[in-house]
Amino acid sequence: MNGVPHLQYILLAVLATLASACRASQDTSEPGPSSPSIVLILVDDMGYGDLSCYGQSRWKTPNLDRLAAAGVRLTDFYSAQAVCSASRAALLTGCYPNRLHIAGALGPRSKVGLHPDETTIAELCKARGYATAIYGKWHLGDAPNLLPTRQGFDEWCGIPYSNDMWPLHPDLVRLPPESDARKRGYPPLPLYENGAIIDPEITPDEQKGLTKLFTDRACAFIEKHSEHPFFVYVPFPMPHVPLFVSPQFEYTSGAGLYGDVIQEIDASVGRIVERIDSLGLGARTLIIFTSDNGPWLSYGNHAGTTGGLREGKGTSWEGGVRAPFVARWTGRLPAGKVIRTPAMTIDLLPTIAAFIGAEGDHAPRIDGSDLSRLLTDGADPSLDDRALAFYYNANDLEAVRMGQWKLVLPHQYRTLAGDAGKDGSPGPYKQVRSGLELYDLLTDPLESDDVADAHPEVLARFQPVLERFRADLGDDLTKRQGSGRREAGRSQPVEGTK
Ligand code: MG
Repeated sequence: MNGVPHLQYILLAVLATLASACRASQDTSEPGPSSPSIVLILVDDMGYGDLSCYGQSRWKTPNLDRLAAAGVRLTDFYSAQAVCSASRAALLTGCYPNRLHIAGALGPRSKVGLHPDETTIAELCKARGYATAIYGKWHLGDAPNLLPTRQGFDEWCGIPYSNDMWPLHPDLVRLPPESDARKRGYPPLPLYENGAIIDPEITPDEQKGLTKLFTDRACAFIEKHSEHPFFVYVPFPMPHVPLFVSPQFEYTSGAGLYGDVIQEIDASVGRIVERIDSLGLGARTLIIFTSDNGPWLSYGNHAGTTGGLREGKGTSWEGGVRAPFVARWTGRLPAGKVIRTPAMTIDLLPTIAAFIGAEGDHAPRIDGSDLSRLLTDGADPSLDDRALAFYYNANDLEAVRMGQWKLVLPHQYRTLAGDAGKDGSPGPYKQVRSGLELYDLLTDPLESDDVADAHPEVLARFQPVLERFRADLGDDLTKRQGSGRREAGRSQPVEGTK
């Protein structure tokens, strides 16, 4: 035997090593074989008590109940802020919305939106080679430079902001047609396909079809990309008022229009899950379902239910911020597990980053924690006593949850002033004030028994936490600026126009 075979072997070994290194380097931009696809379904203003698996008895949600039975259900999951745009900014970036200077619900022609430099879940996935899409409501800036196709989504079909921001808003239609206030009101609601408007004026009849349209598009996208990892975000505009439902679901719940709308959402989730399962993708797809904030209680029979939790949308009480959360990933997440550890929408980006191998690919400073261990093992002690902040308005620190405790800081909030509205018209709110209050959410999730006086030692534990949030994120209620806030994105005029 001469030395040539050895040389061949050495050459082969070197080539194999090079090929392996090459694959490894590709892995930083290409999804690996175990990278899961992600389906993130967000509903709008659905209450904590609106699903059967969270106690609803007036209507049924069999598809979401099945999803929970085959996966995990969180009892103490929170929206980062109880209003549309702020909530969505947190969901997509892993940051408290006030860190990004996103507050409230942005209106048409908003001058601000999510800064294009912030990293969204879509960008995180896209950088790993995922196909990405959003079918539904964006609400993070409607200027051309702030639309979802500029924030990591390959495809978008949907509306730029809430479905009540149109000339038929109840506050506008009650005004005389020729009044200046009505003329200055909302412009027609457009439907977008990617960066272009494909329907400049969505009609009430067309609103009835939006849930089906977005479900159809999500199913088609999943089928088209079944051979390759994908991220599809489905932010349904429903059950935000004005309520609309497909003719197929009218009068199906026996519980009025709101119940019918929930029936259609539930069936739509069922269609998406069925498509994933029929394509054999269940074991490599993480499906997440949650809501952007609690029910808009002033709309009465057109609002959801909190399951008894205090107050609703637009407040930092549990009824405003606690949301249903169901996730399934066949074979990876335990089936039928109920998890009571507090978690928040800010956790979704770092969690998805961990699952797809993209840790650290996001902005240098985010607020959420990785829930991957919590979701796969059903517990993660490192998260048990974590502090979660509830800001509202521009930058008011209204409450903080830590473990079983929730500290409510003195602030003004809205509550119903008498009867709620009916059949699409809102009832009035009034402003009232809270004191410095402490609730034990383990024994008192309804926030009915203020135990601040009985637990000075707990109040003392909160003090350094409050200082940490105020120093970093500021607090208008105590007139603090905060050093860690970043700028919102600014709308840029389209070239050739003013
Ligand atoms: Mg909402």
